[in-house]
Amino acid sequence: MYIFIIEIFERGDKVDKLLITAIEALVRNTSDIFFIKDEKLIYRAASMPFVRMAGKETLEEIVGFTDTEIFEDKRLAARYIADDCRLFNGGKDLIDYVEPITDDNGNARYGSTSKYILRDENGKTIGVLGITKDITKEYLAKQRYQQEFGYLFELPADTYAVCYIDVDDWRIITQRRQNIHDGTIQECQTVEEMVEYALESIVDVDSDAAAFYRNFTAERLYEIYSSGRRAVSFKYQRKISDGSSRWIRSKADFLADIDSGHLCVMLSAKDIDKTECEQQKLAEAAKLDLMTMLLNHESSMESIKSVLEHESGSQHALFMIDIDNFKALNDTLGHKAGDEFLIALSKELKKNFRESDILGRIGGDEFFVLMRNVTEQKRVRQKADEILETIQSVASKYLQVDLSGSVGISMYPKNGTTLDELYSKSDEALYEAKRTGKNKYIISEA
Ligand code: GH3
Ligand code: MG
Repeated sequence: MYIFIIEIFERGDKVDKLLITAIEALVRNTSDIFFIKDEKLIYRAASMPFVRMAGKETLEEIVGFTDTEIFEDKRLAARYIADDCRLFNGGKDLIDYVEPITDDNGNARYGSTSKYILRDENGKTIGVLGITKDITKEYLAKQRYQQEFGYLFELPADTYAVCYIDVDDWRIITQRRQNIHDGTIQECQTVEEMVEYALESIVDVDSDAAAFYRNFTAERLYEIYSSGRRAVSFKYQRKISDGSSRWIRSKADFLADIDSGHLCVMLSAKDIDKTECEQQKLAEAAKLDLMTMLLNHESSMESIKSVLEHESGSQHALFMIDIDNFKALNDTLGHKAGDEFLIALSKELKKNFRESDILGRIGGDEFFVLMRNVTEQKRVRQKADEILETIQSVASKYLQVDLSGSVGISMYPKNGTTLDELYSKSDEALYEAKRTGKNKYIISEA
């Protein structure tokens, strides 16, 4: 449309009527906020988005009036007039300056306005042409971008490193490191090198952080971004050069690069060792079953509920484990031997599961495990076999008693979506395993 008008101008002949019609059509149809004022700052034309922005309904309420007459907010009107005077006095067009505007519903938005001085053939100012675009979305994205980007110039004292990656080009745009402890973070030239280095430094290979870096591909990052998430973060223990390890919070912020439009990821690693250790001590005191140092009944329930709530998109398996003939151990070798068995078994069961799985002692000889993020049913069967073997192997020290384990399993979301439902399904399956001979597992069919 704009080009079209310029062409008419350039042809120059007999175009007045056509030109006026075209400009009228443009003003009528554009979705931009658009206006023309004369040299006395009286509106001569405006687009409908402008009319609505001014809180009016028809063009007649705009044309022939000044800002002071149109806008109820007198300060805003004064500001527009001041801008125009500045424009006329300075003799230079104002291009793309950001200013607050309102939308059709009176909500605050950000606009990018350009104002062009209109001159006659003698160079005399005869008016002003203004165009405003609603750039709220871009502006907020830019503000966020600048906030994140600020990291690359100045790292907070507790932050080891940031690494800014262009996902579309699959390259590290820039990175910044500082050593909190000597040689903690090394410089990487490629994304692959960075990923490899990150994986090497993570203590727990089964942690969420390790899973994130193992699956660090453009496809996966796009998948996260498309799901609407703009950041993912996890804490993990990181090996540092003196051989010890420290708790780190790693964050990946997703943003569209303001220049290239490419999807970019800003990775940052922050030291949270001190607070983490303090918190852990407190948590331990409050939540653990002191004998086995597993989660106690209440906290296993809380943790499982929280996983079901926050990871409702994944599949999880709830194992309920009960020792067979445990009373006989107490009766034969004494209560202390029974305790020792439970402690030894807890230690071994812990090794069967990832740190991110939830393992708790929910009663005397009963345990609970939530195996998170199960991708294959086969893994559940394997785990169940492992549990039975673990029980057998710990029990092998107590030859006088015929100890074994029974396991009932239910699957989220197949067998239920609440902890109560899953609990009763696992409980029923466990009962079935006991009833049909013990030393076995049963996966709920219900
Ligand atoms: P089943 O084969 O049906 O599971 O029977 P069981 O002998 O294992 O007995 P059951 O599971 O019904 O009960 C568990 C027993 O564990 C009851 C209680 O005496 C014993 N117990 C509960 N807490 C503790 C504990 O902290 N230490 C010891 N040593 N024994 C405990
Ligand atoms: Mg039992």
